[in-house]
Amino acid sequence: MRLTFRQQALRPLVPIFPPWIDLSRQIPHNGRTVAGCVLWMRVLRAALSGRIGLTVRFGVRRYTDGFETQPTNGRYTMKVHEYQARTLLSEVGVPVPQSSVVDTVAQATDAYAAIGGKVVVKAQVFAGGRGKAGFVKLCDNADEVREAAEFMLSNRMVSVQTGAEGIAVKKLLIAAAVDIESEYYVAVVMDRTKRTPVVMVSREGGVEIEVVAKENPDAIVKRWLHPHMGLLGFQCAQLVAALNFTDKAQARAAGKVIRGLVDVFLKYDCALAEINPLVRTTDGEILAIDAKMTFDDNAVFRHKTLQDMFDPAEENALELRAKDHNLSYIPLDGNIGCLVNGAGLAMATMDLIKLHGGDPANFLDVGGSVTKEGAIEAFRIILSDKKVKGILVNIFGGIAKCDTIAEALIAAAQDLGFTVPVVVRLEGTNVDRARKLLAEAAIEQLIPADDLTDAAKKVCAKVA
Ligand code: GDP
Ligand code: MN
Repeated sequence: MRLTFRQQALRPLVPIFPPWIDLSRQIPHNGRTVAGCVLWMRVLRAALSGRIGLTVRFGVRRYTDGFETQPTNGRYTMKVHEYQARTLLSEVGVPVPQSSVVDTVAQATDAYAAIGGKVVVKAQVFAGGRGKAGFVKLCDNADEVREAAEFMLSNRMVSVQTGAEGIAVKKLLIAAAVDIESEYYVAVVMDRTKRTPVVMVSREGGVEIEVVAKENPDAIVKRWLHPHMGLLGFQCAQLVAALNFTDKAQARAAGKVIRGLVDVFLKYDCALAEINPLVRTTDGEILAIDAKMTFDDNAVFRHKTLQDMFDPAEENALELRAKDHNLSYIPLDGNIGCLVNGAGLAMATMDLIKLHGGDPANFLDVGGSVTKEGAIEAFRIILSDKKVKGILVNIFGGIAKCDTIAEALIAAAQDLGFTVPVVVRLEGTNVDRARKLLAEAAIEQLIPADDLTDAAKKVCAKVA
């Protein structure tokens, strides 16, 4: 089909319709939207007929349809510590109090000597809720700093976000303390439903923001970013207005913080960028005193800054081991370990497990071109997960060969010993040889299955 010149000219213009014209949602109760739409049509028509000049901004969408960048239980995202997030914020001109990061008690008191006055000692861990857990402490002198540092470095932090076992604290931030008059909340997060980032602000920032979100959602004001024009001036003004500053200089400062946070979010492919709280001090200064950022794993390769910030000591050890062997390991909450090749097959496998009443503990995708060593490592990783009460091996041999997996199974059984039942469903390339090898090896815990449904039923029965 050939498009007329006018149709062709219109095509690149379509994306400039601003996102706040969301007809499906707004027409019934918002007459202005319709008026806005009509106005846009007129402007476009006038521009096309040459009556007025119109500058069109072209851009590339930053994401592909269906690609999910939302943090799901904190997975698929890279985290950084508060002190690192503070560095990224200061880079874009968001004011943060002076601070230094330390990992011993002696360094903590040295840092205090350099900063002086009142400081706040803060545990640097990948979990929030530190304030309530006693891992954010205001200190007036060197002795208090020493005491707080000793406590934090020798106790595991247990907060609402960590689970009962808590996490060890390896680093502390010693930051100049401020006198807070009010606490605000500012965040940018990927909105999967709208497929564009959303900026959220609230006058009720601080440690209770989760409660606010649940009980008083109207206290959180949201504006969605245009996919390639970013935060528009009037949206920023609306967000600042929602924070209700009476002082013009403070309002301007808050606007700068919001724009800065959006800049960081877009520049580093964040999944989340959050300042909580952003504070107004008794002197009328606007400062970010806590920051949290997570990044889309799939984009980290293009940010040297983030690669340098990566802290393997804080990551899930099993996930890292899997990564080292080119395997993708996704921990879940159930008790059936899944060893599969290919993400699609993993989904189908987990669906069938669920259908037959089971619950996956993880899935380990060995990929298309797995070697025997890689597959053995895969078993080692799955078997070291204490939640696992049964394993379902589901391999469709294409490039990966069934006999390679069978050999790995046999080697893993000999090396590691299967402590839980392992149900095996193999299909595809070299499957006959694989079945023969497995039959000859006669591994005690190994249960062959005819097809996927049979396999799912068997493994669910074993763990029930
Ligand atoms: P979180 O609990 O992990 O989110 O840690 P935050 O860094 O947000 O600190 C928790 C709370 O401690 C904040 O909401 C503040 O109320 C308080 N706080 C943190 N830093 C300071 C400070 O410099 N001065 C004062 N007065 N309070 C602070
Ligand atoms: Mn906080």
